[in-house]
Amino acid sequence: MSKIIMKTPLVEMDGDEMTRIIWRFIKDELLNPYVALKTDYYDLGLTHRDETNDQVTIDAAEATKKYGVAVKCATITPNAARVKEYNLKEMWKSPNGTIRAILDGTVFRAPILVEGIQPAVRNWTRPICIARHAYGDVYKNTEMRIDRPGKAELVFTAEDGTETKSLIHTFEGPGVLMGMHNVDKSIESFARACFNYALDQKMDLWFSTKDTISKTYDHHFKDVFQEIYDAEYQESFKEAGIEYFYTLIDDAVARVVRSEGGFVWACKNYDGDVMSDMIATAYGSLAMMTSVLVSPEGYYEYEAAHGTVQRHYYRHLEGESTSTNAMATIFAWTGALRKRGELDQLKDLVDFADKLEKASIRTIEEGVMTGDLVALSSLPEKKKVNTMDFLKEIRKRLDQDMQ
Ligand code: NAP
Ligand code: MG
Repeated sequence: MSKIIMKTPLVEMDGDEMTRIIWRFIKDELLNPYVALKTDYYDLGLTHRDETNDQVTIDAAEATKKYGVAVKCATITPNAARVKEYNLKEMWKSPNGTIRAILDGTVFRAPILVEGIQPAVRNWTRPICIARHAYGDVYKNTEMRIDRPGKAELVFTAEDGTETKSLIHTFEGPGVLMGMHNVDKSIESFARACFNYALDQKMDLWFSTKDTISKTYDHHFKDVFQEIYDAEYQESFKEAGIEYFYTLIDDAVARVVRSEGGFVWACKNYDGDVMSDMIATAYGSLAMMTSVLVSPEGYYEYEAAHGTVQRHYYRHLEGESTSTNAMATIFAWTGALRKRGELDQLKDLVDFADKLEKASIRTIEEGVMTGDLVALSSLPEKKKVNTMDFLKEIRKRLDQDMQ
């Protein structure tokens, strides 16, 4: 059988620990036998980031702008313990943060649904995808502890020196104070990323804020979304048969729980942080979540939603057998290959991505799964397999489907 041909290379960002090992296995076992892989490879493993003073992360993000589609392995975000463990020159920044800053993107997360693993919310039969704004608000705030009576004001000084003032509160005793901001450029690119993603997935888009209470701040988010929708997306949404829908966050929460899923839920930074953990947990597991960063220019970076699974890695180094779930990492590859196939009009590549996803899902639905899922699955017959055997079981099914 001749291998499937690619046109444009995928930007490949290798990573750390257990996911780095899975990365190699996936390529050897599930990709290289079928696809003549073309990648522009960047080693984002912590050792190589340190050797290059993190330049490799910047280069990988720039390559994503050049080629348009990237696939990324989970990476270590160094903390004090990692600086010691890897004898680092510096506590390098989170690669995801660096890449996000360069691509100016929005992160979309969606669950991988399989038979036998029921969401905690029974009526969720289709995926709910969270789109989280990743700039500003409480994550870039300034806070103050107030320890005595006094007057707190919001002051804006324009470049020409003009001041605009507004009273926050007259403190009669101790309290706390906080200032935060956002910028139109970021809100606009968040909105466009959401509209583009909804079109790409052919799913309705919901957006929610607390605009009834925050009449200027949150209301501005609502207005920006509406203006961009009216001016740029109304028609393509109609053609795709999907809807844009705004509602108050309280109402959104109630509707989400009552819904059957099947939409993209755009959230402000804090709401997205909280709601994505709620949604992920209710669907089952972080190892069954896909994650993609989409830039307003239409660059895509696919990854798993979980980390490098450090505890399993140390067990692996001790020579113990691990049962690490490769699903999210496989789906990072299929997401990227499918997008590459669509952009380059390579039907075989798109079909291959579909088949690999189906074979992976079928493996679990036929009762063969890693330890994390055995605990969740309601199938009467299930078999726990180790990291590599899970991939071999997928390979068996993929081989049948590729005949
Ligand atoms: P983690 O890798 O998400 O794993 C936490 C725990 O979740 C694991 O110990 C395991 O539980 C379970 N788990 C996660 N993924 C799994 C999988 N694929 N299969 C089976 N079980 C899975 O988080 P961490 O171990 O706390 O973080 C390790 C490193 O990842 C950190 O250095 C952090 O900086 C980095 N990180 C990277 C990213 C990213 O690159 N996108 C995101 C988050 C964290 P059990 O041990 O109970 O089996
Ligand atoms: Mg969080």
